Amino acid sequence: MSVTDASTVFQQTSVADQFARARAVFATGRTKPISWRIAQLEGLLRFVDDCESEIADAISADLGRGSMATFMADVGPVRHEIRHTLADLHKWVKPTSIPITAATAPGKAWSQPEPKGTVAILGAWNFPLLLTIQPLVSALAAGNTAVVKPSEISGTTADLIARRLPQHVDGEAVQVVCGGVETSAALLDLPFDHIFFTGSTTVGRLVMEAAAKHLSPVTLELGGKSPVIVAADADIEVAARRIAWAKSINGGQACISPDYVLVEESVRPALVSALLRELPARAQHDSTRIVNRGHLERLRRLLDTHGGEQFGGVIDDDKLTVSPALVTDPHPKSPLMTEEIFGPILPLVSVPSVAAAVRFVNDRPKPLSLYAFTGSGATEKLILDGTSSGSVGINQAMYQILVPELPFGGVGDSGMGRYHGRHGFDTFTHHKAVLRKPISPDLSMTYPPYGSSMQRL
Ligand code: NAD
Repeated sequence: MSVTDASTVFQQTSVADQFARARAVFATGRTKPISWRIAQLEGLLRFVDDCESEIADAISADLGRGSMATFMADVGPVRHEIRHTLADLHKWVKPTSIPITAATAPGKAWSQPEPKGTVAILGAWNFPLLLTIQPLVSALAAGNTAVVKPSEISGTTADLIARRLPQHVDGEAVQVVCGGVETSAALLDLPFDHIFFTGSTTVGRLVMEAAAKHLSPVTLELGGKSPVIVAADADIEVAARRIAWAKSINGGQACISPDYVLVEESVRPALVSALLRELPARAQHDSTRIVNRGHLERLRRLLDTHGGEQFGGVIDDDKLTVSPALVTDPHPKSPLMTEEIFGPILPLVSVPSVAAAVRFVNDRPKPLSLYAFTGSGATEKLILDGTSSGSVGINQAMYQILVPELPFGGVGDSGMGRYHGRHGFDTFTHHKAVLRKPISPDLSMTYPPYGSSMQRL
């Protein structure tokens, strides 16, 4: 056996052991009472509060991001999700009474929420706290035990989560595993009661394949190319500022980042000149670097092969940065227009009309988000009714995720399932259908041979 084989076997044993421990805790039933769930949520809040500066340092080490940006993008939203869940959990855990029919009367029907069991959460590196802990909030609120794998690409934050999180929650019920692709694969081999994966569409397909073996339900939070449609009647200055702001967040490394712009021809010159001003202005407030050399090389390839006119996009190999780039009229088959960009490069294509923009979007895989800038209700309706995406932002980009009870998730190639608030609780909950009948009356007409009176029921 080679060294690699041996370490793989060790890793698999270890992940399987951690799964078994989480599963054993679930079997005791201790995670079901609301008191346990509340204690876990309070523990998560203490973890974030006690470790806030360590979290900021870890994310700075992983991504070069400043502490204020980390507060706004990772720490603040996690805190908000925990507090929102704590405030409403007592409502979510209640059974829902369901009206019965003449054929089922007398009786009482209800749907009863119960935890699914032991769930896997595979986080992503771009918001390494948020995308690991936010699903965990929902999983614990729903009474599950969990095996959590932070992304190996944001390794410093992953180590921090592995070291500090178990100290603040039920450390047997929440198992943290660290490791790379082999660890993810070993995890996906286990019979989880739900798998929650955040990552690329390509790996999402592998996750679903692995889950099929055990019929594990999956939530796939994937990526894709989120378009921005700018109509001729939009406020171009505000549109440019908001697009540039959204694109600058985390160096463009966000799953709901605007990926490319479709602009009506008549306002193209005004939008291009406003973007050329706004893109560098917004980016100067974000210190996030490209996460690693592999991703920097990927962005270099996108810049080298687009075939359009490029403004900006200077690569600093030592600092792992790319200055904001606007690329007008890239070749439609270039990687820039076919692959998710996940970096500070914004392609812009002009279209003769909003209807043409809708067709352009519909010719491609369904995006995670779609943004529309328009001053007209009719144009808004044309876009909303004519396209399908995980979420939509009208006259703003990315803010939709800040509304706690809006479902967050993709559709088609951008994923399946949803979370945030009640939607997250429901994702990790099985709603069990129950009907209780009284013993009496025990009507003879309900047994064969059936009389004609049954037809009236
Ligand atoms: P990725 O899919 O390459 O990797 C995700 C995880 O999958 C990694 O941690 C890795 O351990 C595991 N993995 C990789 N190859 C595997 C394999 N062959 N078998 C089993 N597991 C494997 O994604 P990434 O580069 O870490 O993240 C970027 C992607 O994630 C982008 O597409 C982005 O849009 C998406 N994303 C989506 C959301 C969302 O909420 N929808 C959020 C953040 C990122």
